[in-house]
Amino acid sequence: MSAKIAIVGGGPSGCYTAQALLKRAPDLEVDIIDALPVPYGLVRYGVAADHQGTKGVARQFARIFTRQNAQFFGNLRIGRDVTLEALRRAYDVVVLAAGLPGDRPLGIPGDDLPGVIGSGALTRALYEHPDAEALPELGEAPLVIGTGNVAVDILRLLAKTPEELSGSDLGAGPSDWLAAQKIRQITVVGRSSAAAARFSPVMIKELAELSRVDLRLAAGGSDAGEVLAAAVAGSAGPLPIDFRFESRPVALEPLGDGLQLTVETPRGRETIAASSVISAIGFTGDGSFDRDGLLAEAGGAARLYAAGWFRTGPVGAIPQCREEGQRLAQQILDEVQPDPARIGRALFAGRAGITDFDHWQHLDALELAGATDQRCRRKISRRDDMLRPANLQDA
Ligand SMILES: Cc1cc2nc3c(=O)[nH]c(=O)nc-3n(C[C@H](O)[C@H](O)[C@H](O)COP(=O)(O)OP(=O)(O)OC[C@H]3O[C@@H](n4cnc5c(N)ncnc54)[C@H](O)[C@@H]3O)c2cc1C
Repeated sequence: MSAKIAIVGGGPSGCYTAQALLKRAPDLEVDIIDALPVPYGLVRYGVAADHQGTKGVARQFARIFTRQNAQFFGNLRIGRDVTLEALRRAYDVVVLAAGLPGDRPLGIPGDDLPGVIGSGALTRALYEHPDAEALPELGEAPLVIGTGNVAVDILRLLAKTPEELSGSDLGAGPSDWLAAQKIRQITVVGRSSAAAARFSPVMIKELAELSRVDLRLAAGGSDAGEVLAAAVAGSAGPLPIDFRFESRPVALEPLGDGLQLTVETPRGRETIAASSVISAIGFTGDGSFDRDGLLAEAGGAARLYAAGWFRTGPVGAIPQCREEGQRLAQQILDEVQPDPARIGRALFAGRAGITDFDHWQHLDALELAGATDQRCRRKISRRDDMLRPANLQDA
C-alpha cells in the first residue's frame, strides 16, 4: 500500500526530497504544499535575478510534477489555512521544508531604526515576492553588514549598469528603482578577518569584473587571499566598495538623515556614517512554527521530519539540499508505516483558491512570453494576478 506524504514547502529541499522519494518508490502519494501560489521557494525569490544558470534547477524540479506524479498545492499556508495538526492527522508523514523567511536581527541597539533593512526583505522586494515590502531609499552611502554570498549578490545588483543586467529577470519596477538610486559609495562591514569571510571567491571575482566597481580594503584586510587581493588590485571603476573586516557592529544611532554604526575593531571602537544599513547576517523563522519544538519532536515515531534551511538553519546552498533530500527520503522509506485510514490530499477537497502545477505552468508560459531583448521573463508579482492570470490577459 502506498504511503501519503505531505511536504510543507516547495523550495529546493522540498523538491529534492520529493524527487528522491518518488525515484525510490514511484507509488507514493507525494504532495508539495506551499504558501505561495507558485513553487520553488528561494530559487525564484532569493537566487539573484542575474544568476539565471542557477535558477535552471527549476527545470529539473518541474519533472517531479510532470513525470514523477508529485502534486502541487499552492497558495495554502500551513499554520493559517490548514493547521499542522490537521495535516499530520491526514498524512502518514509530514516533512517540514518551510525554509527560514525572516531576517536574523542584528541584535544591537538601534537595529530597528528606520533605514535599517534586512537582506531578505530587500531581495524579496527586488525579486517581486508577492508579500514584499516597498523598495527602500538607500541614499548615497549604504552600508552592508555581512560578508556572505547574499551580501555579495546585493552589492553586485546595486553596482551593475542597466546593460550589465541584460538577460536577467529583474522586473521593470526594481530596474527603475535601481536606476534611480544615487549611490556614490558602499561600505561592507564584517566581523571576521578577510581570510575567514564567508563569500565564495568566484562571487568576489564576478563583482570585481563589473565596470563600475572599485573594490577597496578599507580596514583589516591584511590577510586577504589571492582572489580578493587580485579583485582589489584589478577593479578601478567609479563606485568604491570599501570592505572593513574585523569590525564587529555594536550599535546603530541616527545621524543627520542617515545612521551611524559603531564597530569594535582590533584598533578600538570606530564609527562609520551611512545613508542606510542592509543587514545580511543570515535568516531565521518568522514565528509561523515553533521550530525548536518541532525539531525536537521530529523523527520516525512522530511521523514528522524536517529538511533544508528549516532543519539546518540558513547554511548550505542548493546542492546541499539535494544531498539531504536523498538521505531523508531513504530514512522516511525505512520508517514509514502507511495507515489506510489517512485521508491525505482529500483534506483540501473543496477548498477555494488552491493553485496546482498546471496553474504554475500557465503562469510560467505567460511570464516567458513577456520576455524582451533585455529580460528573460517578466515576472507576475501581485498575488491577485498570480491567482487570476486570466484577468491579466484581459487587462
Ligand atoms: C538571497 C539568497 C540568494 C541565494 N542564492 C543562492 C545561489 O545563487 N545558489 C545556491 O545554490 N543557493 C543560493 N541560496 C541558498 C538557497 O536558496 C537555499 O539553500 C535553499 O533555497 C534552501 O531551500 P529550502 O527549501 O530549505 O527553503 P526555501 O527555498 O526558502 O523554500 C521554503 C518554501 O516553504 C514555503 N513555506 C514557508 N512557510 C510555509 C507555510 N507555513 N506553509 C506552506 N509553505 C510554506 C515558502 O513559501 C518557500 O517556498 C540563496 C539564498 C538566499 C536567501
